[in-house]
Amino acid sequence: MASPMASPQVILITGCAKGIGKEAALFLARDPQRRFKVYATMRNMATRQEELKTEAGDILNDTLFIRELDVTKQETIDKTLKEIVDTEGKIDVLVNNAGITTGAWWETGPMEAYYDVMEVNYFGCVRMTRAIVPFMKEKRSGRILQISSVLGFHAVPPSAQYVASKFALEGFSESIAPPLRKFNIWVSLIEPGLVATKMARQFGDNPTAVYIHKANQIPGDEERRIVMDMVTFDPEIVIGNEMQEPQEIAQLFQDIILSPKPDFRYQTSQTIKRLAKQQFVDPTGNAIMNAWLKE
Ligand code: NAP
Repeated sequence: MASPMASPQVILITGCAKGIGKEAALFLARDPQRRFKVYATMRNMATRQEELKTEAGDILNDTLFIRELDVTKQETIDKTLKEIVDTEGKIDVLVNNAGITTGAWWETGPMEAYYDVMEVNYFGCVRMTRAIVPFMKEKRSGRILQISSVLGFHAVPPSAQYVASKFALEGFSESIAPPLRKFNIWVSLIEPGLVATKMARQFGDNPTAVYIHKANQIPGDEERRIVMDMVTFDPEIVIGNEMQEPQEIAQLFQDIILSPKPDFRYQTSQTIKRLAKQQFVDPTGNAIMNAWLKE
């Protein structure tokens, strides 16, 4: 754990134009003990930096720095990492936060929806992790926070493309975590449910509206009925009727960064923890299937 006299930990967060990334960058950079220097990155600085700049106020270019980085463009990753390492001599923490979703139903939506979501949510994290690990290995120290989702271990029918991208991220992370620990680099998966950001609110202001929107995209009556069960908040299958605030997630990031031995998985609420316990005690995978089908 960093003492107030130690040099600040250098943190790079992806996807800080809005949502969890922006709030986490502000939260960590405002640390009263000044334990962090935060590089808040975004894919389009020209059009998107003003909001964060305004909110940052006095901490801009003091503990918070804005840089351009698109997780789908290797050249922007290499350029920004080099600049940070040249300036700071290290990067202690990577928060792989940038992500997108789609409202498309799996059969009728375009194939592009699968590619686009995978490109950011999975390949984006792979690119970032591969690019940053050499610097961390050199220091024999690092933290990598992979922002997954409850949908990274618990699938729901209306979000197949997004679920697949987060399952991929979880599998990748589980594979790389043990060898990286040999270099004192700790990988953690963060698994939130609904968080009150544009991503969740694009379908409506509360969880019921999100689920109804998704059900309305589905062409067949029988399939729509399965998805409408989400609206009843059946505790066995539903990801919860709660929306967490991005600041709660930011506080968890800080706890993980400061923990001497972070866990591999973090569910962000009691509801998600309960779903994780249900998921990981049934090796056949049938219990969750039967819960959906009422068999
Ligand atoms: P959000 O409000 O939509 O913000 C997503 C951020 O990612 C934006 O800043 C966006 O930039 C950025 N981004 C998208 N594509 C990018 C790219 N190619 N390169 C760099 N940045 C890119 O979403 P959020 O709710 O904060 O989500 C943050 C993370 O949490 C995601 O990984 C998401 O899957 C995960 N998550 C969210 C929820 C939820 O309910 N909100 C739940 C579980 C997990 P632009 O503004 O330029 O598009």
